[in-house]
Amino acid sequence: MACPIAGTCTFFNNQLRMMEERKKIIKITFCLSGFTQCARYKVYEHFKSEHKVPPNLYPNNFDHAHELIGLGKKHRKFY
Ligand code: SF4
Repeated sequence: MACPIAGTCTFFNNQLRMMEERKKIIKITFCLSGFTQCARYKVYEHFKSEHKVPPNLYPNNFDHAHELIGLGKKHRKFY
């Protein structure tokens, strides 16, 4: 099953720079099958919003994804 947010994803729509061969492997690994493992998808899933996924977040940048999700949790504690 393909990623449900592929239509608006900056990576999937070739707006992020990456070597073509690597991009192809990530699309096969994440976008076209294991999208729940993708850093971009994890941020989307956490916030339930495509608008919360930074356009420049790479699918394999798990550190940044975890930071974003962690910040989101901290932020919510104050409300
Ligand atoms: S990069 Fe991630 S969020 Fe974008 S289409 Fe692929 S799996 Fe989905």
